[in-house]
Amino acid sequence: MNFCNSNHASKVIDRQALDNLFGVLRSQSYTLFGPKVSDQAIVYDEIQATDDLPIGWTDEQDAGSYRLKKRDDQALFGYVVGPHSLKKYLFPPAQRLWQVSRDGEQIKLSPEPEDVVKRAFIAIRSCELHAMAIQAQVFTGGEFVDSTYDSRSRNTFTLAVNCGQAGNTCFCTSMNTGPEVTAGFDLALTEILDGARHEFLVEIGTELGAEVLNAVDFRDAEPEDQQTAKEIVNRATGQMGRSVDTTDIKDLLTRNHGNTRWDEVAERCLSCANCTMVCPTCFCSTVEDVTDLSGDNAERWRRWDSCFTMDFSYIAGGNVRTSTKSRYRQWMTHKLATWHDQFGTSGCVGCGRCITWCPVAIDITEEVAAIRRTDVAGATEPLKRGA
Ligand code: SF4
Ligand code: SF4
Repeated sequence: MNFCNSNHASKVIDRQALDNLFGVLRSQSYTLFGPKVSDQAIVYDEIQATDDLPIGWTDEQDAGSYRLKKRDDQALFGYVVGPHSLKKYLFPPAQRLWQVSRDGEQIKLSPEPEDVVKRAFIAIRSCELHAMAIQAQVFTGGEFVDSTYDSRSRNTFTLAVNCGQAGNTCFCTSMNTGPEVTAGFDLALTEILDGARHEFLVEIGTELGAEVLNAVDFRDAEPEDQQTAKEIVNRATGQMGRSVDTTDIKDLLTRNHGNTRWDEVAERCLSCANCTMVCPTCFCSTVEDVTDLSGDNAERWRRWDSCFTMDFSYIAGGNVRTSTKSRYRQWMTHKLATWHDQFGTSGCVGCGRCITWCPVAIDITEEVAAIRRTDVAGATEPLKRGA
């Protein structure tokens, strides 16, 4: 994927051309993954055509609440992000790393073959693209490259979508990650739906994107098309459901380890780990070895884990974070503060998933605001093991 941020050329296509574009991708051996209605939510799944998209659906989100609702139009992209993120494709929830088998005296170790599936990600939002860039930095940006992530992210095509509306739990504008798609895409759409008019402004981000677009009918974008698309994104910016003041946030959280607000949030937090599972940037994992009953075959699997589980922080004979308070504080402080030390960016893209999918409606933006209100500036309480 190309992360260039140049001035992108713009074209306009209609619904039929968008369908044809999906066909072009399929003819180039891409498997398409995009939004789909399933189990009363909009999730990412394999799709074939625009008919598979959540046409005429929207989502209503709030802290601890998610509902699908019918729209009064046939918008293809009239909703925001659901519980899934692209990490399920690039960093799967369960991934076999290697297998080993014994045949008499012979031991055969077989590493998992390289993933060569070509994936086209459809209708990807700006916050999601930023999350992908953050995970790419975590998995492939350092000295040791994660080969699974690397191979899975190599053969991808990204068809992004500018948000035309924002959800109640969105705060991407605070994190400078949206709602306008600016980089990291092959093609980016803005859906223009006005009465009988149903078209898509398409920005070209890469040569690969231009090549795919060239295979379908389009017209050059007029200045009015560009203006309409701009107004659509501005509307989403104006609808942002939440915000967070990120001023000096790293120091704010670092110096507030002893703030009593952590005790208050810990009284509500169930340590269920939902927030980390839905977060598109969380990357904690564990490994598990399994054998069959003969004892001749074994496999090592990597599975998503969470800093909210007791096992995850068990180190050398003891648990370093025994309390819910210490685990919630670790999660939020890592996301918004120490992530900067480790990876040079925030670990949060403001997608709001952790707010929507928290069963007790804990809201990261509210927690930051509460810490800011009760800032214990200058306090230097030392951290205690498991506190
Ligand atoms: S903050 Fe919410 S989602 Fe996260 S562990 Fe606590 S209860 Fe679960
Ligand atoms: S911490 Fe919450 S809002 Fe931030 S990226 Fe993760 S799920 Fe989204």
